[in-house]
Amino acid sequence: MSSPNPIIRPEKPSEKIESEAEQQLRPQRLAEFIGQSSLKSNLSVFIQAAAMRKRALDHVLLYGPPGLGKTTLAQIISRELGVGFRATSGPIITRAGDLAAILTNLQPHDVLFIDEIHRLNPAVEEVLYPAMEDFQLDLMIGEGPAARSVRIDLPPFTLIAATTRSGLLTKPLRERFGIPLPLQFYTAEELKDIVLRAVNIHGLKITDSGALEIAKRSRATPRVAGRLLQRVCDFATVQGAKEIDAKLADGALQKLDVDAKGLDAMDRRYLRLIAENYNGGPVGVETISAALSEQRDVIEEVVEPYLIQQSFIQRTPRGRMVTDNAYAHLGMNAPKRAPEQISLLASGDDE
Ligand code: ADP
Repeated sequence: MSSPNPIIRPEKPSEKIESEAEQQLRPQRLAEFIGQSSLKSNLSVFIQAAAMRKRALDHVLLYGPPGLGKTTLAQIISRELGVGFRATSGPIITRAGDLAAILTNLQPHDVLFIDEIHRLNPAVEEVLYPAMEDFQLDLMIGEGPAARSVRIDLPPFTLIAATTRSGLLTKPLRERFGIPLPLQFYTAEELKDIVLRAVNIHGLKITDSGALEIAKRSRATPRVAGRLLQRVCDFATVQGAKEIDAKLADGALQKLDVDAKGLDAMDRRYLRLIAENYNGGPVGVETISAALSEQRDVIEEVVEPYLIQQSFIQRTPRGRMVTDNAYAHLGMNAPKRAPEQISLLASGDDE
């Protein structure tokens, strides 16, 4: 029970496997996209302005934890602009030539979506700078003394990049995005609406309180809400229930080992490790990763953001610490903290 629960985990980087139901869940237009209201209203102005000026939309950087809707928004932007959509991802583009092939095949004003942009090879990133800034490609042809550089004009295009780790982007790359858009975690009410909309796809009915029960336990993340809903629907179908109510949802979620706050066994192990073995921390992320036998990336990108959002942990300059909230959630009494621990907790989040 110690590994991350795959049902409620937004996937690790490069492991996006989407079920048919998940694809159907994707909203198609900006108006159907639930939540992220200030992001949406700004974006719709930029989209309209680009359309009125008949120019390619400025480059967009979408950043935030996995499963919040970055890919969905990128697709929506291209649909709203009425232009083509081409998708790839940072680790897939290994050579400058791969990127050149993609860029030279774009139509004017197309959207190129690069997921996980923070994992782009630095040599490829160099090629991206003039492409983003001047719609030009500088390529080296040949090798040794015969090598020469050629410059190719590109059609004007919009790069939409997504990342879970905007802090890992180099400054020159970050500065080339005219439209940086942070995605926030969703409220339970927003997720409830997403669940109510998605349940039709499964051909079942759900009560308002049933939808809210799933929403509250979805790590504030639409992808998790979609997956939990699928599993709850399985329980409902096998039980022959016509309608999912809060009791049925709660029973199913308990069987899936998802607790009242949406934490799974891995989250609880994480919190217990720091609470019980390190007197509340601080503990370095490498130590946590080794103790839990989980990759550091997964700990930082998938496990921690929600624990931070829920104020269960705090990232301090000396490492991770658990808060009184976490002790209460684990049913433990918070320990008496040393003065150094108290000042670290007061120092706020490190990142
Ligand atoms: P990301 O690219 O940030 O990892 P995705 O765009 O792949 O996230 O979204 C994950 C899943 O959640 C998709 O199935 C998508 O349809 C759904 N989803 C995301 N945001 C919303 C939203 N605002 N409203 C409805 N469904 C959403």
